[in-house]
Amino acid sequence: MSDLQGVLDRIGLTMAERTDRGRVASYIPPLARVDPMQFGMAVALPDGRTLTTGNAATGFSIQSISKVFTLSLALGRLGEGFWSHVGREPSGQAFNSILQLEHEAGLPRNPFINAGAIATTDAAMANHEPKVFLAELLSFVRAAAEDEDIHIDQAVADSEKATGDLNRALAFFMASHDRLSNPVEKVLGTYFHQCAIHMNCRQLARAALAFAGGPGVPNLVSEARRKRINSLMMLCGHYDASGDFAFRVGLPGKSGVGGGILVAAPGRAGIAVWSPGLNAQGNSKLGTEALDMFATLTGWSVFG
Ligand code: GLN
Repeated sequence: MSDLQGVLDRIGLTMAERTDRGRVASYIPPLARVDPMQFGMAVALPDGRTLTTGNAATGFSIQSISKVFTLSLALGRLGEGFWSHVGREPSGQAFNSILQLEHEAGLPRNPFINAGAIATTDAAMANHEPKVFLAELLSFVRAAAEDEDIHIDQAVADSEKATGDLNRALAFFMASHDRLSNPVEKVLGTYFHQCAIHMNCRQLARAALAFAGGPGVPNLVSEARRKRINSLMMLCGHYDASGDFAFRVGLPGKSGVGGGILVAAPGRAGIAVWSPGLNAQGNSKLGTEALDMFATLTGWSVFG
């Protein structure tokens, strides 16, 4: 369908009528206070246009979507060597599960479950101080979004630190298997801050375009890296609901417990959707439904 704005308007109207909106994440207190009635979506096109519907200019905590950006930096820094730190298979388990780490000697299954993301941050940091790496990460995200007005929400970062014992357990477990090269508290401090990056759908859709590529899109992420990152998003970007997301949407995407989802439609567009209520697997409920509808109306699933 060529009338993309018409598609977005239709999705916006449909989502506004939804009464079952899932449940807002409660284990990070500032996230629990976000109004679940909100819904926003944006589609950034290679020609520079960004189409939107709903609360597309309202900022939210990107949470695990940040894992896509740190993976890009880690691959840029280590190349193929990165894969000795983290696997590339779906986990079939919850995002914060520790089960598989014990079975597999502390080597996390993929860069998007929490354990793998913590190991990815460790690899991407190299031996830089958290502040130095976070500045590099922010400048990468700002360049991808073509927007300097992107910041870390310190209150969210502090809250994650205060409630992050499970992430601490994952990190110490990996450290006990000599999987981390930086001190655990430094890696976790960096991870908590990256998750607290605050963006809106408009900015996130433009950043997603860096992973989608397309005519005239600046080559911030090389074609070879895009191919790998998109395949990981497709297979692991929604944790134990990745199969369902591929089945319903058929596009590479990465979710966060803040209710955002970043999607790359290869060669076509960067897409972002946000609605804070989550489904049982911790992914945005309305966000997933909106993308299902979008893929159906546009025919943009990579599976035809
Ligand atoms: N900061 C969150 C955590 O580490 C990110 C989880 C997510 O978005 N799925 O628990």
